[in-house]
Amino acid sequence: MWGAVTRTYLDHAATSPLLPEVDAAMAPWRGRPGNPSSVHQEGRRAADALEAARADVARLLGRPDAGIVFCSGATEANHTAVRGLVAQGHQRIAAAGIEHPSVHEALRMAGAEVVALRVGADGVIRISEVGATALVCMAVNHETGVIQPVEQAFATGLPVHVDATAAAGRIPLALAEATSVALTAHKLGGPVGIGALSLRDGGAFPALVGGAQERGRRGGTTDVIGAIGFAAACALALRRVEELGAERARLDEHLRRGLRALGAEPVGAWERTAPGTTCATFPGLLGETVVQAMDLAGFAISSGAACASGSVGPSPVLAAMGHPEPRAGVRVSLGPSTTVGEVDAFLAALGAFLARARPDAYSS
Ligand code: PMP
Repeated sequence: MWGAVTRTYLDHAATSPLLPEVDAAMAPWRGRPGNPSSVHQEGRRAADALEAARADVARLLGRPDAGIVFCSGATEANHTAVRGLVAQGHQRIAAAGIEHPSVHEALRMAGAEVVALRVGADGVIRISEVGATALVCMAVNHETGVIQPVEQAFATGLPVHVDATAAAGRIPLALAEATSVALTAHKLGGPVGIGALSLRDGGAFPALVGGAQERGRRGGTTDVIGAIGFAAACALALRRVEELGAERARLDEHLRRGLRALGAEPVGAWERTAPGTTCATFPGLLGETVVQAMDLAGFAISSGAACASGSVGPSPVLAAMGHPEPRAGVRVSLGPSTTVGEVDAFLAALGAFLARARPDAYSS
């Protein structure tokens, strides 16, 4: 509820609200001084909390504690990882067009030669080595929710950077073989502005330099309270991923049956998605039109389209999939708090809008 207007938030893939358990874990640290690099008691207490947080984040990924580098989020983690690959001599890097823009920008800025991996209409990356010496492969796509073949990427034997941002908390992760993994807290009910780059070990890696923090791999005072919240979200995700996944998958089914009945067409293979994310088109309508109408009706969803200088452009993800209408995508993403009543109310409002907008094509 915002004021007197009831709002329903169905955009958990963009950001998911802070979980109450996460808020409670952070509460005792609010207003407390503590720079983990300081030698006094306050500093040592912060350093201990930071190490405990590192262990929780590492556990969610099934990767070593020493390899966790806290940073501002997945954008920074992707940039650092790509810069690291290039600095280690990997000039030709394979990546698909459906990767997050931070990966594409990082590749461009690092001067890498990008070998484009093909993506099927199902939204799945077709892994191939194509003369590259390293690969980037996301675990789950942020717009379609489609799970990606990271095991096939590992099977190439090449170094692989995995962006696990849209996967964490939604599917169990098995990423021990990745060279590096990017993660952000706010997609799994943690605070905004903290994330991690997970490396294989505590060894050196090109980083944001200028301070000795994070074993010299990421300068700048570490956000301890953010890391504590992030860790609490990771611990909850690890404990609840199966249970919440099954619950969300049931809601997905319900939502998708309703969407199909309203004339929606799936984007990507709905049977291959991580629980909670559904992408569809409504033939003849721009994604943005549907998003705006639903916003007016009290529902927050997303078009997944890139917003550049105030104008809504085609989605690079849908374009890379060869979708004929890359401006038509609509993403509905559910969270741990979403109820069947909310999904039903959304479908009813959507049906009413479609019948108004295109009475020739849709009926409610
Ligand atoms: N990768 C993916 C797949 C994402 O969805 C996002 C956020 N939309 C990011 C990276 C960047 O995360 P952040 O904004 O927290 O840096």
